[in-house]
Amino acid sequence: MLQQTQVSTVIAYYTRFIDRYNDISSLANADPDDVLALWTGLGYYARARNLHKAAIIMVEKHHGEMPDTLENLMALPGIGRSTAGAIMALAHKQAFPILDGNVKRVLARYNAISGWPGKKQVEQNLWQLAESLLPKKRVANYIQAQMDLGATICTRTKPLCSHCPLQQDCKAYLYEDPRNYPSPKPKKETPLRQTHWLIAQNTHGEIFLEKRPNHGIWGGLWSFPEKNEMKEVQFCSEHQLNIKTISTTPMAPIHHVFTHFKLDIYPFLIQCEYNSQQIGDNNCTGWYTIRNALRLGLPAPVKALLTLLE
Ligand code: SF4
Repeated sequence: MLQQTQVSTVIAYYTRFIDRYNDISSLANADPDDVLALWTGLGYYARARNLHKAAIIMVEKHHGEMPDTLENLMALPGIGRSTAGAIMALAHKQAFPILDGNVKRVLARYNAISGWPGKKQVEQNLWQLAESLLPKKRVANYIQAQMDLGATICTRTKPLCSHCPLQQDCKAYLYEDPRNYPSPKPKKETPLRQTHWLIAQNTHGEIFLEKRPNHGIWGGLWSFPEKNEMKEVQFCSEHQLNIKTISTTPMAPIHHVFTHFKLDIYPFLIQCEYNSQQIGDNNCTGWYTIRNALRLGLPAPVKALLTLLE
C-alpha cells in the first residue's frame, strides 16, 4: 500500500508528464528518450514505451484521435480488454464491461465466484457476469461506480458491507466471509537474482553509461554496465572499456524488488584515468557528467547511485 507522501509524489510525476504531453500528437512527436526520462521514478517503464507507441499509431492510423471501437483500442500496445472497455464506456459512452482488480473483487464477492481470477476459467466467468450485469443506460456512471465501490467500500481486507448498496444480494456477504473472495494467487517462491554494476568514473568526473535493450527489465533506460560476477567487472573495465583503473571501491548493495523476481545489485565504483580517446560516445553508450546523466531516463537504483555520487 502506498503512503500518502508516495501517492503525492506519483501524482506529481504523472501531472508533470501530462503537462508536457498534453495531446496525442505532442506525445507521438516526442523523442523516446525524453518520454522515458520524464517517466523516471514511476516504474513500469513498459507503460511509458507503450503510451508513446500508441500515440504514434493513433497519429498514423486514427488522425490523432483515440479509436472508438474495442478492436482498434485493443490493437494499441498496452491496452487490454478491460482498459479498452473502460475507454469505450467512459469516453465514448458505449456499453462495454470492464474487469480491473477492483471490479474483479466486487463481482467475485457479489456472485461468490471462487478461484483465483488469474485462471482462465475464473476470468471467463467474471467477464460473463460483468457483461450480464451491464445496464442499458448511464453505462459510464455504472462503470465508474463499480470501480469506486471496489476502491472504497469493497476493499480487499476490510470490506464495509454495512455501507454497501449491494449488501442485500451479495452472496459472499450473505453466506460466507467476503474476504474469502476472490481466492488469492497460488504462492510461488520469488526468485532472487544477483548482478554486479560497474560504475566507471574518470578524473573529469564523467560516468560511463550504456542504454539497455528496448525489451526486458528497464528496457530503453540508461544504466551502468552489468555483469553476473565480480571477475567479469574487472575484465570489462580493463578489456572492454579499456580504462586505466586507479581504484575499485565496493558500494553498499541495493535490494530491488520486481513483480516476478528480486534483484540484489552489487555496485562497484571504479575510479579511472581520463582518456581523450575513451571509447563509447555514441547513441547507445557514453561518458556523462552526473548532472547530464540525471536528465536521462534511468532506473530508480541508477538514479539513486548517481545522486549519491553527485
Ligand atoms: S456486500 Fe460486502 S462483500 Fe458484498 S459487494 Fe458489498 S462490500 Fe463487497
